[in-house]
Amino acid sequence: MGSYVIEKDPLVSDKERVRMTAVEVWNATGYRLLVRDNKKTKSGHRTRYQCCQDETSRKKSKPSTRPGAVPRDRVGMDRFDCSSRATISSRTFTRDQTKTLISIHFHHEKHHIPYYDVSMPQRVTDIIHENMGHCTPNNLVPLIQAEFPNITSAQVYSAWIKLSEELWKHAENPLESAKQLLEELRDEVEVVHTKVADGVEQLCWVLKKITGPLGKGVVEVALDATYRTNSAHLELYCVMAEDDNTGFPLSYCLLSTATSIEQ
Ligand SMILES: [Zn+2]
Repeated sequence: MGSYVIEKDPLVSDKERVRMTAVEVWNATGYRLLVRDNKKTKSGHRTRYQCCQDETSRKKSKPSTRPGAVPRDRVGMDRFDCSSRATISSRTFTRDQTKTLISIHFHHEKHHIPYYDVSMPQRVTDIIHENMGHCTPNNLVPLIQAEFPNITSAQVYSAWIKLSEELWKHAENPLESAKQLLEELRDEVEVVHTKVADGVEQLCWVLKKITGPLGKGVVEVALDATYRTNSAHLELYCVMAEDDNTGFPLSYCLLSTATSIEQ
C-alpha cells in the first residue's frame, strides 16, 4: 500500500489517471487488474480491482443461443486462489488544486505466473507488452519473427489486441468505446457531430494534426471504405487527400448501416 503526489494534468481526468495507474501496476507486477467497480468520490475517483487470474473473478458465461453462434475462443488462462484485491484512487488536494494524490492498495496473497497468452513463449508476450504503447502489430511482427520465426503474424496480432485492451478498450460496446477513446485523444482528433438517420449509428472524427498542416493545399479528396474490420461489423469510411504523391487520411467515419441492412 502506498500513495504519492504528482502534478495535476488538467487534461487527464481522475478516472483516466486511475486507469493509467492500473496499467503501471500491471507492468510492474505482471498481474493484470480487472475492474470490479468504479466510484466518483468527492475530490476524485476510485476503482476497485481484482487480479484477472483470481479464481473468484471467473465470470459465468452463458452459451449463446443465437443460431450458428461459434463459442468464443478462450485462451486457457491459469486461475489461482490468490485472494487478490486492489484499490486505486486519484484525487485533487482541496488546498492545492495543482496536485493530485494517487493511492494504491494492492493485496495479492499467492505468487503465481503472470497473465499472458499460454500458447506464446513468455518472451514474445514481453516484447509485445513492452512495445504495445508505441508500436502497432505491423511493427511488432518483424521484430518478433526475427527472434521467433515460428510465430505467425496472426498470433502477434491477437496477442497484441488482448494485451493492449487496457490502453484502448473503454467500453464493451465498440462505438461507445471508440467515443470515449476519441474524447481522451481530443488533442489529436476532433469529433464531428453529424445528423444521423433513425436506427443508424455514426461516429466521425477529423485528424487535426494532418488537416492542420495540409490545410487549404488540398485540391482533391478521395473516399475509401472498408468493411469487416471490427467485431461490430461497422463500416469504416476514410476521407483521403494526396500530397506529394502520398495519401493522407483526413477524417474517418464509423457507420452502422451494414448491420442495419443485414438485419
Ligand atoms: Zn492473482
